Amino acid sequence: MQSMVRGGEACFCLKLHAHIIRQYSIVLYICGMTDYNKIIGDIYREMTPLWGSGKVADYIPALAEVDPRQLGIVVDTVDDMQSYRIGDADIPFSIQSISKVFTLAMVISHTGEDLWKSVGREPSGNPFNSLVQLEHEQGKPRNPFINAGALVVTDRLMSLYPRPKEAIIDFVRSICGSDDIYFDHQVAVSERQNADRNLALAYFMKSFGNIHNDVEKLIDVYCHQCALAMSCADLARSFLVFANRGINPLNGQRILTESQAKRMGALMATCGFYDESGDFAYRVGLPGKSGVGGGIVAYMPGKLSMAVWSPELNSYGNSIIGIEAFERFTTGIRNSIF
Ligand code: GLU
Repeated sequence: MQSMVRGGEACFCLKLHAHIIRQYSIVLYICGMTDYNKIIGDIYREMTPLWGSGKVADYIPALAEVDPRQLGIVVDTVDDMQSYRIGDADIPFSIQSISKVFTLAMVISHTGEDLWKSVGREPSGNPFNSLVQLEHEQGKPRNPFINAGALVVTDRLMSLYPRPKEAIIDFVRSICGSDDIYFDHQVAVSERQNADRNLALAYFMKSFGNIHNDVEKLIDVYCHQCALAMSCADLARSFLVFANRGINPLNGQRILTESQAKRMGALMATCGFYDESGDFAYRVGLPGKSGVGGGIVAYMPGKLSMAVWSPELNSYGNSIIGIEAFERFTTGIRNSIF
């Protein structure tokens, strides 16, 4: 009898809860505001049946151990600095290539346009770790988000900072407003042990004079930046600096000029998703960056940033559910940069 009463109470509470959420949604709708909680909640429910449709990255053994059935979604808003979260939003994962955005921001904030003498700004149309294009283009990588380009960026960063790994982690902690960000040493070691292709890229570019530092040290720094462990909540917060046109909204500090922030966005929109960048622009319409750890983070200038993590990848190395979730999000809010 008692449990029936409790069951009845629970049922009443649930109904009341659902009623309040419905009323809240209606109020937001009437005020012309977006109900991000509802949108990401709906997306989350629609996405979990897709678990099993991709494959976790296994060319870095430590990544192959990740449980594929995880999904986190976070939206952070620029104006009122609200954070909307669902699922595995606070679990740190290996951000991999997303780190290329952070190192690029660090380097261009110091060197400005100089970097573009050594790295191009065009989509590559080739896999992220391809060697072929480099030979045709005399050791100048197509863009800063393929591995070759990111290696040049990290090389320049090493010339700017005597302690590059510390500089990277300090920078990311500052734009994220969290001292909890760390290098996952197990991932860094695993990647270092399987870095033959990246070593080849770096030595090849060095032969053209486009790498200035010791290649072994460069690969060590690069493997560490890729092994940064961050959650969707951390990533969405750290990308607010790009959404806020170069100013860290957490402390008002300008990290990039407005023009540099615009250019970072243009690079992310055209080159941020390996050779699936065109399709991401077509389906989603936001500048952003993905990594083979299954994370995707993107933003709408002046409005919001969003991160999704789901480790199963498609054949391009992008999170299958991540892309699908982003497509549903921009469709749901009926907004994109286009
Ligand atoms: N650390 C990875 C590599 O260099 C990055 C891959 C990625 O996320 O695109 O192979």
